[in-house]
Amino acid sequence: MKVYCASMTHESNSFSPLPTNMDSFRESFLFCPSTGEGKGLLDKPLLEANLRSICLNRGWQVIDGLYAGACPSAPTIAKDYEILRDEMVQGLRDAMPVDMVLLFLHGAQMAQGYEDCEGDILSAMRELVGPDIPIGVELDLHSNITPAMTDNATVMIACKEYPHTDFDARAEEVVTLTEASVRKEISPVMWFERVPMLGYYHTTREPMRSFVDSLFLEEKKDGILSVSLTHSFPAADFDGVGAGVLVVADGDTSLAKSTAQDLGQKFFDLRENSAPSFSVSQALRQALAFSGGPVVIADASDNPGGGAAGDSTHFLRAILDAGITDVALGMIWDPAAYDLIEKAGIGATIPLRIGGKSGPLSGDPVDGIVEVIAIKDDLQQLMFGEYGNLGPAATIRMGNVDIIINKIRQQIFGPITFEEMGIDTESKKIIVVKSAQHFHTAFAPIAEKIIYASPPGSVSTDFREYPYQHIQRPIWPLDELPFMAYGKKWA
Ligand SMILES: [Zn+2]
Repeated sequence: MKVYCASMTHESNSFSPLPTNMDSFRESFLFCPSTGEGKGLLDKPLLEANLRSICLNRGWQVIDGLYAGACPSAPTIAKDYEILRDEMVQGLRDAMPVDMVLLFLHGAQMAQGYEDCEGDILSAMRELVGPDIPIGVELDLHSNITPAMTDNATVMIACKEYPHTDFDARAEEVVTLTEASVRKEISPVMWFERVPMLGYYHTTREPMRSFVDSLFLEEKKDGILSVSLTHSFPAADFDGVGAGVLVVADGDTSLAKSTAQDLGQKFFDLRENSAPSFSVSQALRQALAFSGGPVVIADASDNPGGGAAGDSTHFLRAILDAGITDVALGMIWDPAAYDLIEKAGIGATIPLRIGGKSGPLSGDPVDGIVEVIAIKDDLQQLMFGEYGNLGPAATIRMGNVDIIINKIRQQIFGPITFEEMGIDTESKKIIVVKSAQHFHTAFAPIAEKIIYASPPGSVSTDFREYPYQHIQRPIWPLDELPFMAYGKKWA
């Protein structure tokens, strides 16, 4: 079996103040086969190369294309996206003939002038390989799926869990189904049923837990090969934004359609269970009223994993103003503040301006006297099973709040990052994390209570705050029910 593998992943936030260019990919990871840049990356377990690892384990011949991923931010500038896309497509052209193509894509990637990068990539690849070579695709569930994607892929499967703990399991399915279609053992057909809703849905709690479990049962039914629920990526702004159900069936389009429609309606009926979100004051009040600790508060709106800067000060200011003690907060992305801290050195006490720099949603900077507790040249953390760079980082103490300041923007995945930065999480009353849900896997075991908060920010869960111009209306929760959308009545 000769396979062409490649990936490009970027969750593009139309409202993010942070531009995305080639260096944004270099900062996370970038392997370019034509230049050899980033060659060493493929020696390590790499989420974006999980399809590749599975193929190699099966003893197949793998031709590597581009592997590129960047931390979520604004749509990529056009010329850099085009360079990356062309590298992916040229790699396939050079590799041909191949038996199949396997791609890890996000499903919510945009570039300037390209509202649907995945559709653009898949169209180019389909044109190259023709109608008969299977193209298998793994996606993030925060996808906005378009006709250009479903028309040009053979099999697409999104992760089912949020936090995304099941990328490897879904990758196995993508490889298995794509191989079966190469061998003509199956004839995959896909139906994507759009559901007019926006939301973030945690699969760690009910009713989503049971709903996701029911998807696995659907997949056991005769003729159904795969069922994916895509939650939407609401911080994007184009006419393809929204949730949906993607069903892959074996040769039976009407079965794929009826299954997707049935599940789509059931998902719509769960819409009110989108992630809860409290204001800063509500979240802090709840945390203080709780007798134990630590209480973990997710500052979901400033989640770098959704394209926010990670430098907002809404929680920090409120905590300092209220004189709340025994608090840890991580991480605030502030390269300029880090440089001053590093010059001062461990043990120094200095005046410092923190955060609030990237845009109005980040709030105003916070000024104060800080003590430097720890400095690390090269902080790393485990994210989805692979090590990711956080860059140089420091711990400072302002009032009674221990704060991690770092230089490479990223959400925090686990308490070990606080521990490595000299902060004893068990002794804290409150831990504020700039993450929407991926923190949950590693923080839940140490958290006595978890509170989700949504202050102002570029990944706010209050979708009315977004200045949408292009999404299709009506859509829940922006428009009142009942309404007509995608040819049917939703109530
Ligand atoms: Zn996601």
